[in-house]
Amino acid sequence: MTQEGPSGQVMGEGVMSTGEGMRIFPDVEACIDCGGCVVACKRTWDREIDNQRIDITTMAEGVAGPQGENADKTERLAAGENPGETSLPMQCYHCENAPCVSVCPTNALQKEDDGFVTVHDDLCVGCQYCLSGCPFGAPQFPDSDDGAARIVGTGGIMDKCTGCRERQEVQKGPACAEECATDAILVGGAGEIADELERRGSQPFFNQEAMKIIFGAEDAQFFEES
Ligand code: SF4
Ligand code: SF4
Repeated sequence: MTQEGPSGQVMGEGVMSTGEGMRIFPDVEACIDCGGCVVACKRTWDREIDNQRIDITTMAEGVAGPQGENADKTERLAAGENPGETSLPMQCYHCENAPCVSVCPTNALQKEDDGFVTVHDDLCVGCQYCLSGCPFGAPQFPDSDDGAARIVGTGGIMDKCTGCRERQEVQKGPACAEECATDAILVGGAGEIADELERRGSQPFFNQEAMKIIFGAEDAQFFEES
């Protein structure tokens, strides 16, 4: 579904606002594992076949259960009940308290003033500490088999979702979110995302500790159940 953005361009309904302070967050109730976000990302950024900046994780694959609106998957998961097949698009969430930035020994990963977490290729030594540090599996090393380790690393240069920062600078949304057929990738401020999830009857997939990593302790409160 689409809407008109600030400059008249077409945006997906999951894209509520873009630019400084934006956050990317999945709505697990809406994802149908169609792969549209993966294709949109690859096409937009011309990624190699083995490099996926979004990975759709599917749980309880093939298990029958409630689907679609009002399926209450997150509630069922929290209660230890069968959620039925459940898919989650995992990518870099540009965390407020980014563990990858904390563990990177060379400052190759930086939390920028506008909120995006960026990779500075020229500083990455391929140690892959960020892969261990990220709770969401976002860091990729597409060239790790090419003998590209430059100093101590297992290899490669870290690659991840950029949040389509260049697109956002011209008031476009991330390609994945704009092209998602079910608007399962939300983009906006923390309050906007929390309000939209509530409007849909969805809940965050992640626990509150993970939410504090992604949004920071203050903004994570937007998602606490009242
Ligand atoms: S910890 Fe993972 S999800 Fe968070 S900013 Fe770093 S790479 Fe992205
Ligand atoms: S692999 Fe690169 S980006 Fe990741 S922690 Fe090591 S130096 Fe930093």
